[in-house]
Amino acid sequence: MEYEPVIGLEIHAELATKTKLFCSCSTKFGASPNSQVCPICMGLPGVLPVVNEKAVEHMIITALALNCTITRQTKFDRKNYYYPDLPKNYQISQQYFPFAKDGFLEIKLLGDEKKKIGIGNIHLEEDAGKNIHLENGKASLVDLNRTGIPLVEIVTKPDLRSPEEVEIFMDTLRDILLYTEVSDCKMEEGSLRFEANISVREKGQTHLPPRVEIKNLNSFKIVLLAIKHEIERQTKMLEKKEKVLQETRLWDEEKQITRLMRSKEEAHDYRYFPEPDLPPLFISEEEIEKIKKEMPELPNVRKERFITKYRMNEYDSRIILSDKETADFFEECLKLGENVYPGTSIFSKDIANWIAGPVTRYLNEHNTPLSKTQITPQYLVELISLVNKGLINQNTAKNILPEILEKGKAPQEIVKEKGLIQVTDEEEISQAVDKILKENQQVIDDFKKGKTNAFSFLVGQVMKSTKGKANPQTVNKLLKQKLEIL
Ligand SMILES: [Zn+2]
Repeated sequence: MEYEPVIGLEIHAELATKTKLFCSCSTKFGASPNSQVCPICMGLPGVLPVVNEKAVEHMIITALALNCTITRQTKFDRKNYYYPDLPKNYQISQQYFPFAKDGFLEIKLLGDEKKKIGIGNIHLEEDAGKNIHLENGKASLVDLNRTGIPLVEIVTKPDLRSPEEVEIFMDTLRDILLYTEVSDCKMEEGSLRFEANISVREKGQTHLPPRVEIKNLNSFKIVLLAIKHEIERQTKMLEKKEKVLQETRLWDEEKQITRLMRSKEEAHDYRYFPEPDLPPLFISEEEIEKIKKEMPELPNVRKERFITKYRMNEYDSRIILSDKETADFFEECLKLGENVYPGTSIFSKDIANWIAGPVTRYLNEHNTPLSKTQITPQYLVELISLVNKGLINQNTAKNILPEILEKGKAPQEIVKEKGLIQVTDEEEISQAVDKILKENQQVIDDFKKGKTNAFSFLVGQVMKSTKGKANPQTVNKLLKQKLEIL
């Protein structure tokens, strides 16, 4: 019997607003415990919530980016439960009139196949605080700084069919939330959290079996591990003709398995009722249109454009579009480059190579984002121009890159200061080659015997003797000529 998994995701993303959803407390991460709280987010009696306009704007952007229908008259509900990190004993959420619904996100599968993953609904709610259980077991502490931070909850339809599809979906969604600046998506700070609903059925069936929900998945890696494990667990049960029950499970990081948390709760367990302290929200056509106009180009659209317009390959486009900052940097370079090299398709390839290659390597090695370095689009274009004009060679350019990134010095200035202008004068290079050949009879003999690395050794020696400034093509050419007649 062949089985297939049916997977849906619930995604919680903290919205990147400066203040909380219903009060003006800061949302900044990392402050000392309970320093960003007020009577409203602490749930003291008699206070009234006021909706943060920026959070609503972020919601409209999210809804548009996910092709949802926005509910024109939306409202809030109370979700009642008791927990120490929830001082009001209810969470203000949306149950009956979610902010938006019936959308989709198109993902690009391997081999260029596209698939639309349905979005059931998205709604706006407030985050809870954080319980911290001391390791010695002597106390549990509560930090309410996170209480009231706006969250968007995105609920997909059960359209995903494999862990691979889940991974692509998560990547695509995160890119959109980052590009639109709706959320900073920092998983290590809890800004992006996942829950997965999984069931397994016989391939070809269309019914939805009881689903198992896995809570609190805090990294992409854990989401995938938990889903893979759950598919395996349920498949084994089905093979043994056991019944899979609807329940909520947790990921056990130590044992690398999912374990039972509780049998699945239903909506009525939360005794939802309309939030009496907040009036309904009316969202006008003008407001939506205004936001639509100001929205940045979405990452998937931008990627298509980069690939067709700049003939960028898949690898470069993935790196350059991995964040908005790098993609903006690339396009800034291009604009400048157009003045230097009219008809810029070769130049765009150079810029892409430099960003995806040496620049990214440096950033990875130093674990730093582009914005923390001193390089500007002007400097990178200048550096590439120096190479393309033959004033310095590729190696010299790579060698001075760290100085540009770290000190923000203009490439021309560095080249001038250090006297790095490439030697293209054949006579001068020829003399250097003769000198090296004279000093390395043994290597020449090796070369004649067919040792291929003897040649690269000689090239290296010539480059060294010219302090890396010789034009490598000329060195190669002259060495070959001279070795032939020796
Ligand atoms: Zn507050």
